[in-house]
Amino acid sequence: MPAPKPLKNLKIPGVKPPERMCEDPQCPWHGHLRVRGVLLEGVVEKYRARKMAVIRHDYIYYVKKYKRYERRSNLIHAYVPPCIDIKEGDKVVIGETRPLAKTVKFVVLGKTEAGAG
Ligand SMILES: [Zn+2]
Repeated sequence: MPAPKPLKNLKIPGVKPPERMCEDPQCPWHGHLRVRGVLLEGVVEKYRARKMAVIRHDYIYYVKKYKRYERRSNLIHAYVPPCIDIKEGDKVVIGETRPLAKTVKFVVLGKTEAGAG
């Protein structure tokens, strides 16, 4: 058994590091997975005991013609490391990472502290 690697301090605003350890090399906190690119906030739309969740990201988009904003949303597939407990309806922060599967290039970093559920 290799010694557990120390927790990386990713300094994600509004996200606490997970309390549990994990041995997953694809974990952004304990493994080798590097988060780069954008950080997004979203709501867990589907999470069914797999390592992947569907996150809904809501944002507002400015429509120039009408000089008004409209609400838009994206569904984003994100990898869930085993040390992070989430359930459907949770607000989470996801970070862009390398492509992990055909449609998965984001990873769940943790629940947002503000709001708490
Ligand atoms: Zn982990």
